[in-house]
Amino acid sequence: MPNIDLHSHSTISDGVLSPSHLLAHAAVRGVNVLALTDHDDVAGLSEASRSAQQENITLIRGVEISVTWHGRTLHILGLGINPEHPPLTEGLKKIRDGRMDRARAIAAQLDKFGIYGSFEGASAQAGTSRLIGRTHFARFLVSQGYARNVKSVFKKYLVKGKPGHVSHVWVSLDEAVGWIRGSGGQAVIAHPARYKLSNDLLEQLLCEFRELGGAGIEVVSSSHTPEQTRQFAALATRMNLYASCGSDYHGPGESYFDLGRLPALPPECTPIWNKWEIPDYAETGATILNERSEQTGLQSPGKSV
Ligand code: AMP
Ligand code: MN
Ligand code: MN
Ligand code: MN
Repeated sequence: MPNIDLHSHSTISDGVLSPSHLLAHAAVRGVNVLALTDHDDVAGLSEASRSAQQENITLIRGVEISVTWHGRTLHILGLGINPEHPPLTEGLKKIRDGRMDRARAIAAQLDKFGIYGSFEGASAQAGTSRLIGRTHFARFLVSQGYARNVKSVFKKYLVKGKPGHVSHVWVSLDEAVGWIRGSGGQAVIAHPARYKLSNDLLEQLLCEFRELGGAGIEVVSSSHTPEQTRQFAALATRMNLYASCGSDYHGPGESYFDLGRLPALPPECTPIWNKWEIPDYAETGATILNERSEQTGLQSPGKSV
């Protein structure tokens, strides 16, 4: 069984590792199939493809699109997309432009609370990334001593009801699923438990999503408890949706799950990769793990995968 991780971020959005460092880390962790799913941008996929070949990893070209549905923010993953599909690239550009306006509004809010220079600070954290996200604000605020880590700075400053929160309208579910499907990809609802939807609203979302041609939901995610994994496995099966699994890796120290350390999908699930052509990776994971850990000096878990 190959080691599959279908949700990860690089410096192109709010991850810590460049696409090539991400792929090198994935190889150390014994990942065979990795989706790079940066927020609202596909600019990391060409570098990631080149590194994937060197690392003997199957790269799934992906994206994580920010959507507003019934006044809530949802994240929709596109897996197996064509990153050159014009409606997709133009749509993502529109979202990134909106992020810039939101970033200025967040900075203006923080100004009112006596926290100055956060637009410049977040931009510096974003580095070469073409978008600014709350994570970049969070890293700036941590660097200024406002909280100990990214997790707690979110709670204190960046979520609803807190000084740096600005509500924002992203794109519609219809648009996001349409761009993904139009580019030949499969749409997957990321970390569904994070949205805290009532059962009725969740049912409505899944029905709408399926009618739009959505393919699956993330069942195994670092955002899910084991109980939530079981709940979403049952829901995916009942709704006839594929199940996906992803660590939502953002970098060392910023994610609950390291790459390649995901629990298996519950047995009743139909994996999203069911009809994908995946090379036979039997036994290769351990070889890559051992070779690469010596070369990179990154810590290996010490046993084969
Ligand atoms: P944005 O799309 O700019 O609103 O930022 C969303 C990103 O912020 C997510 O993808 C996570 O990387 C990060 N994030 C959201 N909520 C939290 C939280 N409570 N703690 C840490 N990171 C978070
Ligand atoms: Mn993120
Ligand atoms: Mn997300
Ligand atoms: Mn993500």
